[in-house]
Amino acid sequence: MIICKTKKDIRDALARIKNSHRTVGFVPTMGSLHEGHLSLVKIARENADIMVASIFVNPLQFGPNEDFDTYPRQFEEDAAVLKSQGCDLLFAPTRDSIFPSNFSTQVTVSQITENHCGVSRPAFFGGIATIVTKLLMILAPDIAVFGEKDYQQLAMIRRLVRDLDIDTQIIGGPTVREEDGLAMSSRNNYLSKEERKIAPSLYRELSNVSDELTKTQKNWMGLKPTLESNLLKAGFSSIDYVDLVDATSLELMNQPNRAGRLLAAAWIGKTRLIDNVAVMGM
Ligand code: AMP
Repeated sequence: MIICKTKKDIRDALARIKNSHRTVGFVPTMGSLHEGHLSLVKIARENADIMVASIFVNPLQFGPNEDFDTYPRQFEEDAAVLKSQGCDLLFAPTRDSIFPSNFSTQVTVSQITENHCGVSRPAFFGGIATIVTKLLMILAPDIAVFGEKDYQQLAMIRRLVRDLDIDTQIIGGPTVREEDGLAMSSRNNYLSKEERKIAPSLYRELSNVSDELTKTQKNWMGLKPTLESNLLKAGFSSIDYVDLVDATSLELMNQPNRAGRLLAAAWIGKTRLIDNVAVMGM
């Protein structure tokens, strides 16, 4: 695996690959890798000749009171894992090379980012849209793989790539979970032992409601209060949102009459967890 720390190095390496007509698959990450990230690497390897990962903790997507400074960083370990998984190139740029001091451009994807996580994390999606646009322009990969774990982010990136005519196919990878159902996340380590026991109930409760919606075709609004109170009873401290949305547009839905997605964000103590499950439309 070749590690490139500058834009010039990665561009030169990729130019050689593209000259030999090999396709490039890309998985962007912020490091602190777990099985969820590695499942995306596997998908990229299966769908392209050359697999490129990036590790960059993107300052733009963190709000002022969020965990940018304390976000887990373990470059050597991550690089070793990527190498063992057959990653060919690792792009690990410095902050200054990506965001020089007079950096003044922001990519904004409207509509699809305004609800759900966009309400409580106003800087988040603009920060992601900007870094993803930059990475796709630097690397120009044939495919890029993102996790369904961050469902609104994935939907935003699909929209961004379509709107800006970026010639990269976006593939969504299913959420990888711990045995008890908790979606893997670099932030799960923030949970105390007690909090960790509460955490899987988010997926459990979402799955129960998804099954019920699919089986009974009941109105979502009739089920939402029970879901919220079940989460609080299970030990969640507060709920940011639980919404049933159209699986593509993310517009709010009430009747599960087409493919939908239940999206949720909730707090346990100081840790905010997000998750989502599919709802089959009838
Ligand atoms: P991050 O390093 O958190 O920015 O995530 C990098 C990529 O990994 C994003 O596309 C995430 O959606 C994806 N990802 C994070 N957790 C999981 C998971 N449990 N299963 C699948 N993909 C994931």
